[in-house]
Amino acid sequence: MTNIMINKSLKIAIASGKGGTGKTTIAVNLAKSLGENVQLLDCDVEEPNSHIFLHPVISQVEDVNVSIPDVDLSKCTFCGKCQEICQFNAIVVIKNNVLVFPELCHSCAGCWLVCPENCIAQKERVVGVTEEGGNSDVKFVDGRLDIGEVMSPPIIRAVKDRTANSMIVIIDAPPGTSCPVIEAVRGSDFVILVTEPTPFGLHDLVLAVEVVRALGISFGVVINRSDIGDNKVREYCDSENIQILLEIPNDRKIAEAYSRGKIIIDIYPEYRKRFLDLYEKIESMVTV
Ligand code: SF4
Ligand code: SF4
Repeated sequence: MTNIMINKSLKIAIASGKGGTGKTTIAVNLAKSLGENVQLLDCDVEEPNSHIFLHPVISQVEDVNVSIPDVDLSKCTFCGKCQEICQFNAIVVIKNNVLVFPELCHSCAGCWLVCPENCIAQKERVVGVTEEGGNSDVKFVDGRLDIGEVMSPPIIRAVKDRTANSMIVIIDAPPGTSCPVIEAVRGSDFVILVTEPTPFGLHDLVLAVEVVRALGISFGVVINRSDIGDNKVREYCDSENIQILLEIPNDRKIAEAYSRGKIIIDIYPEYRKRFLDLYEKIESMVTV
């Protein structure tokens, strides 16, 4: 049960410039601390692991399809226009054939729109699944990209299509600063950037800040393992006017609990208040 007055049902994305900084830890602890009227969307679709900590009962699994070209060679004049427009080398015209490389196709529709003979149809290809369910408190959706597939944005969009109305939504974004992260955090009210006080942490934080600023979304920083490394992350945040929302010290018990599928508030219940304070701080920073 939540002990704070929730004034706004925010969409909060949890991101980090690199993997292994504790992004999922923050996402699941925040979701479980809020405890009700909360939905967690695990958009880290190449390696979703929030379920390990939330133990949701999955009630619905759905395929995620993308459209790829299906060429009718009997009508094709091998003019090469489809190959010319494709920015991803996913369709190649050779002497008397048109080859399609499904894994490279971004489903941009360029080839079937440009074909003067109208001989490119669309066919569906499964690239992964979404899984939906929950436990007694937190509602849950994650996405899984099939092994060997590289296009995670369609799965991320399918997960976000299941965003609940009138609930607090916590989005566990993929690590990094490329297209999948942008897809995951787009439309959020706030982004929590999770980092560590190390040179690598700072390097990736600077890149992540650039991305979130370009998207025009309010954000703040959580420093995990805050007592390792140096003070450069704090100095950077200070110089850039970025609020440090929470610091979590390096703690062997937390690390051990994580490896057993437990979360911080399971072993240190007093942390729940710190995560609720985090939500309150974010509420005060967001105008919606
Ligand atoms: S654009 Fe159409 S007609 Fe031209 S090569 Fe491609 S499939 Fe064939
Ligand atoms: S849909 Fe777009 S990405 Fe896919 S083959 Fe056609 S032009 Fe290339």
